Amino acid sequence: MTITFLGTGTSQGIPIIGSEHPVCLSKNPKDKRLRVSILVEWDDYTFVVDCGPDFRQQMLNAKVNRIDGIIFTHEHADHTMGLDDIRPFFFRQGDIPLYANKRVFKALEKRFDYIFTSEKKYPGVPSVIKHEISNSAFRAGNLDVLPIDGLHYKLQVFGFRFSDFAYLTDMKTVSKKEMKKLNNLEVLVVNALREEPHISHFNLEEALEFIAEVKPKRAYLTHISHHMGFHDDVQQKLPKNVFLAYDNLQIKIQE
Ligand SMILES: [Zn+2]
Repeated sequence: MTITFLGTGTSQGIPIIGSEHPVCLSKNPKDKRLRVSILVEWDDYTFVVDCGPDFRQQMLNAKVNRIDGIIFTHEHADHTMGLDDIRPFFFRQGDIPLYANKRVFKALEKRFDYIFTSEKKYPGVPSVIKHEISNSAFRAGNLDVLPIDGLHYKLQVFGFRFSDFAYLTDMKTVSKKEMKKLNNLEVLVVNALREEPHISHFNLEEALEFIAEVKPKRAYLTHISHHMGFHDDVQQKLPKNVFLAYDNLQIKIQE
């Protein structure tokens, strides 16, 4: 299984428009972060988790020409606003499978009513196949994907376990019961916004505590704000098996 970090930035991305913060002005490509998303590939399957405003650029960067579906963690704009850009995939492949819970579909149907309508579609508007998921394993390709339920302040969000890899973003609270789904991981990805505490995201300390409790072989941090600091400085402070993810990083998971 191959994971590609398509984007590792928080909701505004890095650099932030108009910002003169040193991290936003950094020349290091590892300090440039599109909105969070990953590509998960195994056998002949290609899935994307979340579809934010940078989706088009991310598909071009990773040279993706076919997808088997998009799996949504939650409905916030930085995770969904690229949905219109499934058009090239739709023209080539037909209706695109989406995986989300009922509440997330409701939000998507409101925002992208023209995609979800079945009547009088404007020519060129894409169509999708809805796969409604809940907090139990669902089939994606030839794999059972396990949702991990958590809270983003008060909003329910899903993380996902694919075999020995798990991806949790926009989490602030995960119950002990849900954490049991994260035993024996090769790789865990969790959100870590910055050092200062935040109402709806793990800060660095909380992310490291969570990793220490879950004990994956390796862990990567994502959904990073410019307030976290320069990639190279932060990486030096992390435990040996924890890495600050960066855009276009690719990792292999042994199956
Ligand atoms: Zn987010």
